[in-house]
Amino acid sequence: MKAVWLDLNSRRIEEGDVPEPVFDSDNQVLIRVVEVGVCGTDRDLAAFARGEAPSGETTLIPGHEALGRVLAAGGAVTRLKPGDWVVPTVRRACAPACRACERNRRDLCVSGAYTERGIFRRHGYMSERAVDFAGDLIPVPEEIARFAVLTEPLSVVEKAIEKAIRLHEEPIERALVLGAGPIGFLAALALQARGIEVAIHSAEPGSHPRVSKIVSAGIGYCTALDGHAPRADLVVEATGSPEAAFAGFRCLGPSGVYAVLGGGVGAGHISFLDLVMKNQIVFGSVNASPESMALAVRDLARFDRRVLEGFIRRVPLGAFRGGVLEPPRDTFKLVHVLTE
Ligand SMILES: [Zn+2]
Ligand SMILES: [Zn+2]
Repeated sequence: MKAVWLDLNSRRIEEGDVPEPVFDSDNQVLIRVVEVGVCGTDRDLAAFARGEAPSGETTLIPGHEALGRVLAAGGAVTRLKPGDWVVPTVRRACAPACRACERNRRDLCVSGAYTERGIFRRHGYMSERAVDFAGDLIPVPEEIARFAVLTEPLSVVEKAIEKAIRLHEEPIERALVLGAGPIGFLAALALQARGIEVAIHSAEPGSHPRVSKIVSAGIGYCTALDGHAPRADLVVEATGSPEAAFAGFRCLGPSGVYAVLGGGVGAGHISFLDLVMKNQIVFGSVNASPESMALAVRDLARFDRRVLEGFIRRVPLGAFRGGVLEPPRDTFKLVHVLTE
């Protein structure tokens, strides 16, 4: 079957034929991979800045934002049948399972010995077929199949938003999202769908094609945080830029919650006195829980379909190298079509 892989020794991106995945358990499901989205993690992988091959191998098939259709299900699988649309979760539990993995919260794994498909010690989905245990596949309804490739990145956002809502002492009224990339825009859409007034701050000028898509979705946009920046109950950082992340603290209101998703590394300044005197909370969040995957499926069904159409550009698998090395300017998400 056709696949794309990263050779971690020669540091090359390659494309060709690989062996079919092994489908040998009653609890497993063989899927046809239909689409795979690309994100900043894939760009880091393609730059050989992160990622690890499966044990004993020197190559890694990337791709963790996948949409598939069931081709065959093992005898013990009752909730999936051929033809069903599915989205795989990314993280697999550590073994022996830590206390978080034991209760199916691998996103909170405390041992660090988890694996992640397409990122860390497990092949991903940039191949025509894949095998997973049924419990690692989220069924998605046919009605949202056209956009379901966004389920995984949206689930990361949903986890952070739900946590912020739990942590904030009052209902969240205003939110500020830092970053006009796919995670920032998905966060803004998920906040807007909850009735929260939301604006995105980013460096792109107002004339940038992605900014016009943000504005036409009814989301505010600003390029400067100084002066008139609004006080936000929630700030979601999705830039990866430490400078922008530190600047965002200036907009955090009393009892405000600050969710960090971008994960940039750098030095800056925050006021512990402000944190104390304003009862503020800062947290980081990665990966997704089963609940946040379900929320992502729910929200994809209620987001404006025209906005989602403008979010995605579909390209063939052969375009992986170009797309991963040079992200598109005029759209948010490159999606590779593996099989029709
Ligand atoms: Zn991703
Ligand atoms: Zn664990």
